Amino acid sequence: MPATVQPEKQRRFALEVVATLRRAGYEAYWAGGCVRDELLGRTPKDYDVATNALPDEIRRVFRHRKTLAVGAAFGVITIVGRAGEGQIEVATFRRDDTYSDGRHPDRVHFSTAEEDAKRRDFTINGLFLDPLENRVIDYVGGQEDLRQGIIRAIGNPRERFAEDKLRMLRAVRFAASFGFSIDSETFAAIKEMAPQIVQVSPERIAAELERCLVEPGRRQAAELLLASGLLEVILPELASAIVHNPVAWAENLSVAEKLEQPTFALALAVLYWRLIKPEDSEQVARRLRFSNQVRLTTAWLLHWRYMLTEAPQRLWSEVHPIASSPYIRELLAWGEALVAAGRMDPEIMRWWREKLAQPRELWDPAPLVSGIDLQTLGIPPGPIYRRILSEIRRRQLDGQLTTKEEAIDFARSQLATQGDR
Ligand code: ATP
Ligand code: MG
Repeated sequence: MPATVQPEKQRRFALEVVATLRRAGYEAYWAGGCVRDELLGRTPKDYDVATNALPDEIRRVFRHRKTLAVGAAFGVITIVGRAGEGQIEVATFRRDDTYSDGRHPDRVHFSTAEEDAKRRDFTINGLFLDPLENRVIDYVGGQEDLRQGIIRAIGNPRERFAEDKLRMLRAVRFAASFGFSIDSETFAAIKEMAPQIVQVSPERIAAELERCLVEPGRRQAAELLLASGLLEVILPELASAIVHNPVAWAENLSVAEKLEQPTFALALAVLYWRLIKPEDSEQVARRLRFSNQVRLTTAWLLHWRYMLTEAPQRLWSEVHPIASSPYIRELLAWGEALVAAGRMDPEIMRWWREKLAQPRELWDPAPLVSGIDLQTLGIPPGPIYRRILSEIRRRQLDGQLTTKEEAIDFARSQLATQGDR
């Protein structure tokens, strides 16, 4: 969804879509996640509409609008709104038939509102709302579970997870993101069936995992992943390290909880700390098809984490590569969470903030000399350039060389000693 969507306009558009279908003589409701979010007082990310109109009929009713028929085979027509209104997916009531691959329904049958509610994953996601009369239509007991804060599979949880294994991870994500608990039978089914999560593509697992960990409920998500046995299948390296070092895990959870809107990479690094080495984190990332960005950032954060604490005692030339890295914001966010969790001396973060609040040229000055300067001195190009330049840079950052003249004198002296060799 483009960032230009304006929630108020989007909501009005979603209302209009329902009203238009209703005027044309069809049944139409808001459905699923948007109803849940409305009832929880959250702003829905997007609105889905369910109707008894067939795809062709939906297109006819909205012929004055731009529509997309990408999902038409599943009964889904997308209505494209005007600026700021976003898009609304209008789906014909349907029942999904057997899932022989555990991922996609083999066939779709157009059906009734009740059956459409019952094919959905959890009771809180199975509600309809008539936004014109502000009436909830509840075939699955979703309102009660919403009130009580329970994630409960619709129907028999084992059957529902057998149809689509990804639902096990969705249960964890919804529980964590709303601070709900998972109904005991639903949770028992997840524990039993967790090994089958391998049937879901790594990309989809990664996407759910990311949503679990970037949201504020990440601590609960991590605990549920472990308790359900899903972690053991998705991240066996982490699960077995936790068995050997439960103290580190408990500490990581308490830090993870304090992160504020972390990237996926940072949330992972915080949970991995002292349990998964940087190289192993790269292995995990490759297996689960995390983006290169996530893979490299996680490994970088784990690799340099010690510098976060040690920087105030180190030479600036040692700290500089970390301070000037594009990943430093995330490392500092880790530091703030450590302080918030009472696991780091606040003075350390004050030191960092003060250091980096200075004008950049003070802590990341332009190099005093370049290869061209060495050439002018008549030094023949070669590996010696890099050695001399990096030695000059080191001394510059540590305040031993402050002017270009000093740097050039130093280069000459180096050349003399090199010549002696
Ligand atoms: P969010 O958009 O916040 O992730 P959501 O509930 O809207 O939450 P979507 O993936 O957008 O989730 O799906 C919309 C609705 O479609 C859900 O509320 C649910 O009713 C149904 N649904 C989605 N995925 C599944 C699934 N794997 N199995 C059954 N029903 C599903
Ligand atoms: Mg949604």
